[in-house]
Amino acid sequence: MKVGILDILTTPSSSWAETAYNGVLTKQYACITPQAIAVWCRQLGHRTHYATYHGTGDPKRLLSNDLDLVFIGAYTQASALAYALAKLYRREGTRTVIGGPHAKAFPRDCLRFFDIAVGECDKALIADILKGIFGPGTIVSSRKPFDDVPTIEERMPEIRASAFFRQRHPFRLTTIPVLASMGCPYACNFCVDWNNPYRLLPTERLAADLRYASAHLPGVMLGYQDPNFAVKFDQVLDVMESLPQGRRNPYIMETSLTILRSDRVMRLRDTHCVAVAPGVESWSEYSNKAGVGRTTGLEKVDRVVEHLALLHEFVPYLQANFMFGLDVDEGDQPIALTKEFMSRTPFVWPVVNIPHPFGGTPLFDRYLNESRILTSMPFAFYYSPHLVTRLKNYTPPVFYQKLIDVFSHFTSAAMLRRRLATTDRGAVRAIHIVRTLVKRKRIRAFQRLLHMLNTNRQFRAFHEGESSSLPEFYQQAYDRMLGPYASLISRAERSPLLERAPVDDGGDVGASRTSLADSAPAPPRARASLVAGRTE
Ligand code: SF4
Repeated sequence: MKVGILDILTTPSSSWAETAYNGVLTKQYACITPQAIAVWCRQLGHRTHYATYHGTGDPKRLLSNDLDLVFIGAYTQASALAYALAKLYRREGTRTVIGGPHAKAFPRDCLRFFDIAVGECDKALIADILKGIFGPGTIVSSRKPFDDVPTIEERMPEIRASAFFRQRHPFRLTTIPVLASMGCPYACNFCVDWNNPYRLLPTERLAADLRYASAHLPGVMLGYQDPNFAVKFDQVLDVMESLPQGRRNPYIMETSLTILRSDRVMRLRDTHCVAVAPGVESWSEYSNKAGVGRTTGLEKVDRVVEHLALLHEFVPYLQANFMFGLDVDEGDQPIALTKEFMSRTPFVWPVVNIPHPFGGTPLFDRYLNESRILTSMPFAFYYSPHLVTRLKNYTPPVFYQKLIDVFSHFTSAAMLRRRLATTDRGAVRAIHIVRTLVKRKRIRAFQRLLHMLNTNRQFRAFHEGESSSLPEFYQQAYDRMLGPYASLISRAERSPLLERAPVDDGGDVGASRTSLADSAPAPPRARASLVAGRTE
C-alpha cells in the first residue's frame, strides 16, 4: 500500500517573522510517534511517505498523491487544518486516520472528518489499521502506549526529512526526538498525562540511541519528549554516563523541580543537559511537584527562585511554565507573585499559559459540568491568546488586562537587557531576543481581544456565556487560519462536539489492542512545550 504520514506541527504562518521562526525552530519539534508509525509501515512492507508541516506552503503537496491511507498527527491548535486535509483526502478515496494529542482529547469530534481516530498505538494496532480491520467511524487504541520505540538509526529517513538542512545534513539547531519514558507520577488536573502511569522504557534501547547519536550525529541536540523526564533519575542518568565525557550529545527535556534535587544537578551538566523546562504552574497549587511540600505564596516564590538559581549554575537554558486563570487564581496576587519571580530570575524564560480544557482531563470534566466552556468556540482556538472558558474569578477584560501586565513585564527592554546579561552564550542570547519579540506580538493579540471585549457587545456577551453565537471575529480568524482551505469547513462544522469521554472498562484483558468505539483512549499531553509556539 501507499501510506502517507503527516505530522502537523503548527498552523499556517501569518507573517514573515512567523515563517522564519517556524521554518527554523518549530520544524525541529517533530513528534516521535508519527516517525515510529512511518518505521512500522516500512517494516510491514508498505511504501511510506512521511512529512512534517511547519506552517509554510501547501500541506497537501507534502505527500505524494494517490495514497491508499493517510495518518495525520495534530495538536488541537491545528485541528482545523487536519479536518480540511481529511476532507481533501476523502474526496480522493484515501482512508483517513488521525492520531496525536487532538485525537486523544477529542476523538469523537475527529470522526466527523476522519475514518479512524487513534488513542494510544503500537505496531500491532497500526498493522490492523493497514489491514482494514477497523471500519469508518471507529475509535481505536492499543492497550497501553508503545514500548518499542524505533531507534534513531531506524528513524533516520524521517529525521532527515524533518530536521536536516535540505534533508542532507544536520545543522546547529537540528533536534532529534527521543524517549526514555512514558507517563508521569503526578496528576495535575489540566494535564493530559494526569492518569498516565510513569513507565521507564527499556534502557538498552536508550543506550543504543545514545551510542548511535554519539558516533554518527556528534554534537546534534537530542530532544527528550518524555512528559516528565528522568523520574527514575539514576537509571536514566546511568545510561547517559555510560558514554565517555566529551562524546555525549547535548540534550533538552521537561521535568519537575522535585526530580532535580540539589545533589543531582551536577549530573545534568556532566551528561550535557543544555535546557530544562520545569512546570511551576501556580503559587497556590501543584506545590508537590515543585519540591516545596505544602508551601505557597511568597515563600514558594523564594524556594523556587533559590532552586532555579542553583540549576542555572549547571544548565545554560531554563524555562519555567505557569498557568494563569486557574480556579485558585484570584485578585492581584497571582500576577504580583509571578512578576516578583520574573524580576528575580532574569536567567529563566517564563511561559505563562491560559488553562484550556483538553478532553480526558479532570479540568475538562469540571468545566463541562459547570457549563463554563464556550460551546461554539472551535477547537482550533484552544491556545493562547484565546480564552475558551468562563473563568471563576476574573471577567474576560480583567483577565486580559492582567495578562498584558505580566507579559509587558517580562518582555520589557529592561528585562531583556538583564536577561542578556545573564549569559555569554550567543545561542541563548539569540533565543531570548526572538522569544521576547514573539511575546511582544502576543501582547498585541491580547490588546486586540481586550479592545473587542470593551467595544463589541456581542463579543463580550459570547465570552460571558450570555450568547452562544460564535462572533464574526472568530469566524474570520478561522478563515484566515485555513487560507485557501477555509471553504472546506462550513460555519456549522466549526462548532465542536463537546462531550466527556466515557471510561474505558478495559475490554478483553490480555488483548494486544482494543477497538474503543464507545470508550475513552488515554489522554494526550498538553503542557507547555520547551519550544515556543506549541501550547505556549
Ligand atoms: S503537568 Fe507535568 S507533572 Fe503534571 S501530570 Fe502533566 S507531565 Fe506530570
